Amino acid sequence: MSNSQLRLMLCALPVAVLAGPAFGQGQPDFSQVQIKVHQVAGNVHYLEGQGGNVGILVGDDGVLMIDDQFAPLSEKLTAAIKTLSQKPIRMLINTHVHGDHTGGNENFGKMGIDIVAHDNVRVRLARGVNGAAPAAAVALPIVTYGDTMKLHLNGETVTIGKLPPAHTDGDSYIHFANADVLHVGDVFRTVGYPGVDGNNGGTVKGTIDALQAIVDMAGPNTKIIPGHGVVVSRDEVAAFRTNTIEAQRRVTELIKQGMTVEQVVAANPTADLAAKFVTSGPPPDEAATQRFLTAFYNALKSEL
Ligand SMILES: [Zn+2]
Repeated sequence: MSNSQLRLMLCALPVAVLAGPAFGQGQPDFSQVQIKVHQVAGNVHYLEGQGGNVGILVGDDGVLMIDDQFAPLSEKLTAAIKTLSQKPIRMLINTHVHGDHTGGNENFGKMGIDIVAHDNVRVRLARGVNGAAPAAAVALPIVTYGDTMKLHLNGETVTIGKLPPAHTDGDSYIHFANADVLHVGDVFRTVGYPGVDGNNGGTVKGTIDALQAIVDMAGPNTKIIPGHGVVVSRDEVAAFRTNTIEAQRRVTELIKQGMTVEQVVAANPTADLAAKFVTSGPPPDEAATQRFLTAFYNALKSEL
């Protein structure tokens, strides 16, 4: 890669990536990323690459896509989708505002694909997320909703619904009624601690409530696609909720004792929960634990 190409690519990276992986981003060596296609149930699939899991519904009416990872991966994602369907991509839903889920919006928007998201996602993208520049107009959702909305295509009833303010204040779940599949964005992940982004409206209480809402929505056989990681059932989400409540209890206790965020990070009160939160992929390193405890502490402090 030439220097000018590298510069272009770096310019296209969300600030959060350049500043370090605050919420779910790995090392941005996009040239090495390969997109893996996983079938979930019926016509619902997900694509694994770098960034959030991309949900895909295929059928005669066209492709419905959920999240779009990073801008440099748009071509690879489009190629992977072509292996599932020759129909055009018709709509793109953003589960939430983070750059590892919305980074391709501008590219897909320029292709004329309608972007759909919760009202707050559009507001935050238009303002600029985590200090980044405001998103280009073409990258903004053209359809937004407040509570729930339904799409009817490919023989599916697709419900897009608002979850309590958990990971952010614009978290959506996407439910496929016939395939019995839920995509829940980063409210639940199998590769990390609970991710409460207080800077974008996320809360610990909302996380616990949202996880309960997911468990209540799911049936015993519902397949749940997390924002990052592998497909699970409601039992794994319920266990994650129980562990989140335990982490909330422990950190709240230390806050009430008057401990600073540095002291809580040093005490690492949730060390034994790490392996329970992270059920796929490598265990969290020290930096990930530090980021989690800092975000969790700050969110809880403002919720007390
Ligand atoms: Zn996220």
